Amino acid sequence: MGLHHTAIPRTIEAHGHDTAADRRAPAVGEAAGTWDTGARRVVNALTIDVEEYFCYAYPGDTLSREEWAALESRAVPHTLETLKILEQHGIRATFFVLGWVVDREPHLLREIRDRGHEIGSHGFGHQLVYTQTPERFRDDVKRSIDVITDVIGEMPVGYRAPSFSINAECMWALDILAELGFVYDASIYPTRMRENGAAGLRTEPHRLPSGMWEFPAATLKIGGLRLPFGGGGYLRLYPFLITRWATHRINAGGRPAMVYLHPWELDPSPPVRPRSRLRRFQHTVNLAKTRSRLLHLCAEFDFAPIGDVLKQIEAETEQSIEVAAAQ
Ligand SMILES: [Zn+2]
Repeated sequence: MGLHHTAIPRTIEAHGHDTAADRRAPAVGEAAGTWDTGARRVVNALTIDVEEYFCYAYPGDTLSREEWAALESRAVPHTLETLKILEQHGIRATFFVLGWVVDREPHLLREIRDRGHEIGSHGFGHQLVYTQTPERFRDDVKRSIDVITDVIGEMPVGYRAPSFSINAECMWALDILAELGFVYDASIYPTRMRENGAAGLRTEPHRLPSGMWEFPAATLKIGGLRLPFGGGGYLRLYPFLITRWATHRINAGGRPAMVYLHPWELDPSPPVRPRSRLRRFQHTVNLAKTRSRLLHLCAEFDFAPIGDVLKQIEAETEQSIEVAAAQ
């Protein structure tokens, strides 16, 4: 059936940590009986994109590599703070690390890896995928694989595009990622959002024809609209009750949601901000609320790295195939 446990990321097998489902942290909503689906608790995917506060890539509003090099690094303290929060809640996550940051702070990648988290690639130079040729994209991702492999001796298992920039115009990127050996991609918002996103695609984790998994970002259909939620600017912009409600809605259907954030979002006053008013708003709205929202999510939901969530989906799919065959 094309479902083989050999496809499970080897780093997860090597660690042998408990899954989030084993820990069963008490949940606010569950205690009140509000969100009890009457079934197992769904384990959601928690993902952290490790980059600097100045690595934003908005069309026409980016800084040059020379400007990056001259700016103060804050990725280390904010990533360490993120690690501490996750450790306090007994949560492991997937960290998509930017190759440029790994090049500058290799010890940070070792620290993340040594604490048992799953390592993915966020590319090297944080360029939007739809602005690149297939050749430039391959070179950028390959460079990130090389720098990560040099530091930890292991290939990153998954890939997250800068700003979820794999859209309908650059689906070729998925074949390149499969060729480079990734187990999964987590770069697509299956809804139309300005330059990013692609409407009409599957919204649940699924296998692509190449055999690589696609784990789309969280969306929820409300009325005729499919709305993005669950991370970054959406986590900060929407009232937290919306994020909480939407995550429970997805989980009530037996499906995992994907939450993402950046360590720099824990910094309420970044020294550099985008120039345009709209981008500055997207980048900085409610930064002071990120920490408390992350803490609430960690206390209320079960989370695991993407590789663990996919492993659980594979196991359940195999089980249902066996049950169907036995009937
Ligand atoms: Zn990014």
